[in-house]
Amino acid sequence: MTQYPSLHMIIDGEKVSGGGRRTFPVVNPATGETLAELPLAEAADLDRALEVADRGFAIWRKSTPQERANVLQGAARLMVERQEDLARIATMEEGKPLAESRIEVMMNVGLFNFYAGECFRIYGRELVRPEGTRSTIRHEPVGPVAAFAPWNFPLGNPGRKLGAPVAAGCSVILKSAEETPASALGILQCLLDAGLPKEVAQAVFGVPDEVSRHLLGSPIIRKLSFTGSTVVGKHLACLATQNMQRTTMELGGHGPVLVFDDADVEKALATAVGGKYRNAGQVCVSPTRFIVQEDVFEKFRDGFIAGAKAQVVGDGLVDGTTMGPMANPRRPEAMERLIGDAVQRGAKLGAGGERIGNQGYFYAPSVLSEIPLDADIMNEEPFGPVALINPYRSEDEMIAEANRLPYGLAAYCWTGDYKRQQRLAAQVRAGMVGINSHMIGGADAPFGGVGWSGHGSEDGPEGVLACMVTKAVHEG
Ligand code: NAD
Repeated sequence: MTQYPSLHMIIDGEKVSGGGRRTFPVVNPATGETLAELPLAEAADLDRALEVADRGFAIWRKSTPQERANVLQGAARLMVERQEDLARIATMEEGKPLAESRIEVMMNVGLFNFYAGECFRIYGRELVRPEGTRSTIRHEPVGPVAAFAPWNFPLGNPGRKLGAPVAAGCSVILKSAEETPASALGILQCLLDAGLPKEVAQAVFGVPDEVSRHLLGSPIIRKLSFTGSTVVGKHLACLATQNMQRTTMELGGHGPVLVFDDADVEKALATAVGGKYRNAGQVCVSPTRFIVQEDVFEKFRDGFIAGAKAQVVGDGLVDGTTMGPMANPRRPEAMERLIGDAVQRGAKLGAGGERIGNQGYFYAPSVLSEIPLDADIMNEEPFGPVALINPYRSEDEMIAEANRLPYGLAAYCWTGDYKRQQRLAAQVRAGMVGINSHMIGGADAPFGGVGWSGHGSEDGPEGVLACMVTKAVHEG
């Protein structure tokens, strides 16, 4: 039986805790019980981590591709061995069903193995120049990275934040969410146990605003990688300008799903219901705004309501649970506010719309339809288990609604018409578009958005290149 571990930071390979530091209680969202107290960094801890990261970069930038690949592959092997413990810890901290946590471990395994290969594929290029001269374009690691990961993928987010800098030859200071620290520590420990020099990757926790101001205020940090809300992303982008740090911003979304009357509606429904209630909707690429052509609207809405009611909501550690609690008390509060506002403005509530039980942060799988566009929920990322389903007449209206918001992360289109598929792929504004599929990621594919959803990519070759700078060398 997996025990929830005691908590610490990892600075210069040392487990740091106690010493009169402030602490933060980590809570199991299914029960409301405190699992452990997390030590929070003081300024001196952050200064030490920065000094170590500077040394770590000096070491790792000289590593060979083979050395980096060995570490990444070794960490991937350890994650496989430790899969069950890692998954249980993630579910205890975040609430998602155990099966989803196990998948998260394997996504990291796939990503680390892919990045291991990428270490050998960081090619430069040689320009055509007169004999006796030479011009080459090289990629070099950007430098120490500050990486801030949120709580919704307690294993996957830290995996992305650590894997890319390690593959690129950078050092990294990870501040994962204080609500899910043990999962992040578990991933970092796999890297250290696989032979990563202790100076190269460290983990701190703290008061987020203190940590980000301190790290980004240092010229040692050369890149910020952030996943989280658009509002915090904008704030951090401003902080990063002081030292002109490069940024990768993976921010919010409001995933439009266009369902046309020529689509395989049954398949669209089965896929969308599963996608919607995955991780209780707390997913940046969650399908959210269902833009449904009027001939299939009622069938789709009624099928969705049936799908919502069929979810088995409970503790993620219990077999058979299909949807766990929300991850923290802010989320059910946000659901109550957003769904209350929509209903008050005339939206129809087909399922859910209420909390479940009196312990933990459970919220019922919900469906709203015929929602006025000025309702808050049609404009603000709900980040919860609610589907928003509205009818539309024409393709043009549907594309206009998909592109109405400033977000552009994931979009999904369901239609059997090939020409229409091509038009949608071109015209829907998003970083990732699924056509008759909600599989929009993969270790080898760039993951990221446009507009208010951020910029830059994680995963794929782009994820490693995002931790590198180019240098042009001209020899006369
Ligand atoms: P939040 O916006 O305060 O925090 C989001 C994340 O950013 C957390 O992990 C938090 O630790 C971190 N953060 C906050 N302030 C920070 C700072 N000054 N410096 C560094 N990191 C900071 O709110 P929240 O309640 O945790 O989440 C609310 C919203 O965030 C959600 O509704 C959703 O829109 C968004 N979110 C997005 C993702 C994603 O995958 N893109 C993940 C989690 C949350």
